[in-house]
Amino acid sequence: MFNISSGGRKIPKAVIKRLSLYSRVLQAMEMRSVEKISSMELGEKLGLNPAQVRKDLAYFGQFGVRGVGYYVAELRKSIKRILGTDREVRVGLIGVGNLGLALLSYGGFARQGFRIVAAFDNDKRKVGSVKNNIEIFNVHELEEKIKVRAIDLAILAVPADAAQEIADRVVKAGISAILNFVPTRLVVPDDVKVHYVDLAIEIESLTYYLR
Ligand code: NAD
Repeated sequence: MFNISSGGRKIPKAVIKRLSLYSRVLQAMEMRSVEKISSMELGEKLGLNPAQVRKDLAYFGQFGVRGVGYYVAELRKSIKRILGTDREVRVGLIGVGNLGLALLSYGGFARQGFRIVAAFDNDKRKVGSVKNNIEIFNVHELEEKIKVRAIDLAILAVPADAAQEIADRVVKAGISAILNFVPTRLVVPDDVKVHYVDLAIEIESLTYYLR
């Protein structure tokens, strides 16, 4: 339920997720050279009320100026610092099948501050090839490449029966953040964060509303 702490206070996970959404809206505003935004406008773009926006941001300090709102560039910079995306996040992708290949081919991650710096597979036909300037290494090289390429975060897109073993290996190599697309609950030490992405669950929770 709770995630990072700020000044000793625990921050709810939902707040961290919304920071990411705020950052995306602010990025779009910055690209349109908008200088200021109110909590009302920021909230409207995300279907949130302004009080929620102010409360979320207040966890991390005083950002707004009364009667003015928020300075777009300044707030975005602060949010990136809070989220740790003010520096490049270096990502390793394990499993270059249908899903992995789609992720490798997508060029938009860099704009959000993260970059896939290496991909891994155990299929010899894929190993050694390059997709979108990203090399695909033999998964035997996983630990070594995590070190030399300074990988911070691992994305898992392997078959279910390989997921736990790969998770164990990346954790042992020093990774403490995993984005897991595999529909398998991973067992990891307490200090390792795993986020799960499951489109089937997302679709299922939407189909509920189709009735
Ligand atoms: P895929 O079979 O096309 O690709 C899997 C890839 O992993 C292959 O390239 C294979 O060679 C490689 N691989 C197998 N064992 C490996 C190992 N030990 N080390 C490294 N690489 C290995 O499958 P896909 O359709 O790309 O799906 C990948 C995973 O993502 C599956 O677990 C699937 O269930 C899951 N998935 C999740 C979602 C989602 O919404 N979360 C959507 C689609 C697929």
